[in-house]
Amino acid sequence: LSLVLIPPVFRSCWVCFATDEDDRTAEWVRPCRCRGSTKWVHQSCLQRWVDEKQRGNSTARVACPQCNAEYLIVFPKLVLPPPPQGGIAFVAIKGAFKVYFKQQQYQRQAHRKILDFPEPEEA
Ligand SMILES: [Zn+2]
Ligand SMILES: [Zn+2]
Repeated sequence: LSLVLIPPVFRSCWVCFATDEDDRTAEWVRPCRCRGSTKWVHQSCLQRWVDEKQRGNSTARVACPQCNAEYLIVFPKLVLPPPPQGGIAFVAIKGAFKVYFKQQQYQRQAHRKILDFPEPEEA
């Protein structure tokens, strides 16, 4: 009888280098064609990385520096209260709209998600 001990394979994030061991609650994503240890990344880490690449332009395309696969970034449908209106001076409305659109942009950014690459994972 032979006992083969297979060491547990932990995913490791290529942004912060943390593994499943380090943070068991983190959300993982496999956003590109990369194989092996570099294919996994934390959802939150990748978002931060994408932010840096996009430099404020949230519609810019971002691809993996290793395999060049473009990341699939989805934005949720926004559920925000309608912009305030009526009864306020024009200047105030203008200001409120500004805040509203800022908020909307922030919400979009905050709730976007990067999807797994749409390719079956090879064993
Ligand atoms: Zn990470
Ligand atoms: Zn890649």
